[in-house]
Amino acid sequence: MSQADGKPLKIQPLTQPLTTQPLTQPPAPASRRRQFLKTFTKDEQIDWGGSIAFFGVHLIGLCAIFTGISWAAVAMCLFMYYGRMFAITGIYHRYFSHRSYKTSRFFQFVMAFWGTSCGQQGPLWWAAHHRHHHKFSDTEEDIHSPGLRGLWWAHWGWVLCKRYAPTHEEAVKDLTKYPELKFLNKYHGLAPFLLAAGIFFFGSFLEHAAPALHTNGLQMISWGFFTSTTLLYHGTFCINSLAHVIGKKRFETGDQSKNSLILSLVTMGEGWHNNHHRYPYSERQGIYWWEVDMSHYILKFFSWFGLVWDIQLHPQEIFAEAKGLKTEAAV
Ligand SMILES: [Zn+2]
Ligand SMILES: [Zn+2]
Repeated sequence: MSQADGKPLKIQPLTQPLTTQPLTQPPAPASRRRQFLKTFTKDEQIDWGGSIAFFGVHLIGLCAIFTGISWAAVAMCLFMYYGRMFAITGIYHRYFSHRSYKTSRFFQFVMAFWGTSCGQQGPLWWAAHHRHHHKFSDTEEDIHSPGLRGLWWAHWGWVLCKRYAPTHEEAVKDLTKYPELKFLNKYHGLAPFLLAAGIFFFGSFLEHAAPALHTNGLQMISWGFFTSTTLLYHGTFCINSLAHVIGKKRFETGDQSKNSLILSLVTMGEGWHNNHHRYPYSERQGIYWWEVDMSHYILKFFSWFGLVWDIQLHPQEIFAEAKGLKTEAAV
């Protein structure tokens, strides 16, 4: 099994706080709707055609109220939410965006395929945009800064714009050399389609094989795919929006990133966002044992079986810095 070239992304640990542009305030609230529309500049109009799938998933997800509910459907919804949240956090974010651990080329492909099942475009698109966020966090260049552009824009406004639909391959040259990743990035709709079909057939099978579960294909696909995908969108988007607004700031990172336990529980560890902005090369984002980081525990579990290796962690200087800051704060 050949090793995927896991050269870490060159993100230097910060020794000095970044100097950033002063943050400007979001526009004055004339009305909520007008304020939201103002966040779309002329070249950032909503791409209604390109957003059909996004809105369609939300609408069909709402149809779950017509298909009834069962424990089996709710269990599938939760499994598909957390199973794919790991795909976003442990795979798209910590592997493809930051290269914070290594794996084989085969498992890299398996992970990328699972990642595309989330309906959040391909791994190259996702990683390129995320690397841009780290480079320009909360400055004018940052595409989704809630401090500069407002919460709704940072949450989902920008993902609806044609302007941000292309993949900037120059930002992910370490990934574009794998044709299989380029294929998945181009045909990112394949995995969600196969997953939705699989869930539907599984529900239809259960309807006949286990009638006591009171489920069927339609109920299973609406809860297990559409509702869970809708929740997954917003769980993920919370890191672009709320993780730069709510919580506590441990490190001076020159941006607005915060640490939040609630966001970490929703996103399997991504809520330790201020820790992450301080040292993005670490796969683990909680730095203490009580900073629950489910994605890290899963990757650690994978490492026991040799599926992943060279998991990067925070260096001692980061712990010393955190301790120093705490002491200073207590004085
Ligand atoms: Zn951030
Ligand atoms: Zn990151």
